[in-house]
Amino acid sequence: MVLQSISAAQDPAGFALLERVHRVHDLGKALSVLSWDREVNMPPGGDRARVQQMTTLRQLLHQEATGEAYGEAIESAAAAWAGLPDDDDRSCLIRVLRRDYARSRKLPEAFVLTLSRESAQAWTVWKQAREEDAFPLFRPHLERLVELQREMAELYGYETERYDALLDGYEEGARAAEIRAVFATVKAATVPLLEAIVASGRAVDDALLHQAYPVAAQETFARQIAAEVGYDFRRGHLGTAVHPFASSFDRGDARITTRWYPAFLSPSLFGTLHECGHAIYEQGTAEALARTPLARGCSSGIHESQSRMLENVVGRSRAFWRRHFPALQASFPAQLSGATAEDFYRAVNKVQASLIRVEADELTYNLHIILRFELEQALLSGDLAVADLPTAWNDGLHRLLGIHPPNDREGCLQDVHWSGTSFGYFPTYALGNLYAAQLRQAALAADAGIGVALDAGDWTPLLQWLGREVHLPGRKFPPSELIRRATGKALDAADFVAYVRAKFSDLYGLG
Ligand code: ZN
Repeated sequence: MVLQSISAAQDPAGFALLERVHRVHDLGKALSVLSWDREVNMPPGGDRARVQQMTTLRQLLHQEATGEAYGEAIESAAAAWAGLPDDDDRSCLIRVLRRDYARSRKLPEAFVLTLSRESAQAWTVWKQAREEDAFPLFRPHLERLVELQREMAELYGYETERYDALLDGYEEGARAAEIRAVFATVKAATVPLLEAIVASGRAVDDALLHQAYPVAAQETFARQIAAEVGYDFRRGHLGTAVHPFASSFDRGDARITTRWYPAFLSPSLFGTLHECGHAIYEQGTAEALARTPLARGCSSGIHESQSRMLENVVGRSRAFWRRHFPALQASFPAQLSGATAEDFYRAVNKVQASLIRVEADELTYNLHIILRFELEQALLSGDLAVADLPTAWNDGLHRLLGIHPPNDREGCLQDVHWSGTSFGYFPTYALGNLYAAQLRQAALAADAGIGVALDAGDWTPLLQWLGREVHLPGRKFPPSELIRRATGKALDAADFVAYVRAKFSDLYGLG
C-alpha cells in the first residue's frame, strides 16, 4: 500500500494522519531550505530576518508536531492499521511517529528555549575562543552546556547510562556499552597497525595533491565524477559551503555542497564524493515514502556509512583510480602528467598521525572519534571536570596517536559539536566506517559480480545492492535491524579491521 494513495473514504484515520504528517514534513523541509540558503546563497545582511523566519517556522513545527491532536491522530491510525505486518510502510510509519512524538514531548518548552539560548551564546564564544586559542573563555559556557545535556538526558530517560539518552537521538536504540565494545576492537587493531606503519619507515609522497589546482577546473571535474558515480543532477545541486554538507528536501531534490582549495585537491574531490554518498542515499529512498519521516536516512551512523563507502571504500581504492585517473589527468595535465594512477592512489591514502579530525586519513580517523567518545562520556558522568578537558584531551591524543597538540585551538577547541547540543553525535562518524566495511563484505558475499566490477573500478553493481538493501527502505527500520537485514549480523568491527589491515599492509609493504 503506497502511503500517498490512502483515501479518505476507505481509510479515514490513515488519511487524517497523513494530512498531519505531510504538514509537519513540509514545515520541516521548508526550514531546511531556509537553512541551506543561509549557508550557500544568502548575503550577510539577510541574517537577522532569516533567523526570525526560521524561528517562526520552528514554532509552527513544534506546535504541529507536539500537540495533543497529533498524538490522537497517530493512535487512531495505529488502531485502524493494527495487525499489519511489522515491515508494512504503515506499521513502520506508526513506529517512527510514536518515537518522534514521545521524544519531542519530553523536553518542556522552557528547557528548549534555555538550551537554544545557551548554545547560541556558547557557539559565538567558542568561535572566538578557538580563534584566540583561549579555552578559559569557553570553559564556563561548556560547563553550562554539560549541565544542560545532563538535564536533557534525564528528561529523555534511559535504562542504564545517561549517555544512551543522547546517543539515541542520532542512532536509534544504540547503547554506549555496545559502542565501547566495538571501539575497543577497532583501537586494539588500529594502534599496532599504525605503529607498524611508522616503524616500516616507508614514506608515502602526497606532494602531487598540494599544487596549484585552478578552482574552475576542480569544479568541472567534481561535477563530472559526481555524475559518473550516480549522483542525479536532475534531482541534485552542487553548491559551495565553508563546512560542506548534504541537505535533502525530497528524493527529487537532494543537494550537496563542497569547498575549493586552490592549492590542495583532496577537499573538493573527496568532499564531493562524500556528500554524493549522502545525497545518493536520499535520492534512493522509495517514492512511496515521500512526505513522511520515513523518506530519509535511517540514522546518522547509517547515513555516514553511505558517504564513507563512496569517499573511502570506493573512492580511495586502487581500482577506482585505475579507471578514473586518466580523466583527472586530462583535467589537470600540468599538475598530473608525470604521475601514475598508482602514485595518486598512494598519495590519497597516506597515513599520518595528525591533530585535526576532519583532515585525518582513513586509518587514524576512528582514533580521533574514540578520543571524543571517551571524553564526552566522562564529561557527562562527571568523571571529568570541564576545567581538566584540555589536559585530558592532550593526554588522550598522545596515548592514541603518539602526538601532542601545541595548543587548544588544534586540540579540544577544534570541533563545533560541544559548543552546541550535539553530545552523542561523535560515535556515529566511526560507526559509519564500521557499517560501510560490513555492508561491503555482505555485498561481496551476496553477489560475486559486485567484486568483479569493483576490481574494474565500477561500483554500479555495489550501488544497486546498496539501493535495495539500504536506500529504498529509508527510515523504515532502526539501524540495528537494517544492518541485520542487509548483512545477516549485528554491528561488528571485524570487517572493518580486516579491510584496513589488508589495505594498509599492502600499501606500506607490511608482512
Ligand atoms: Zn558525512
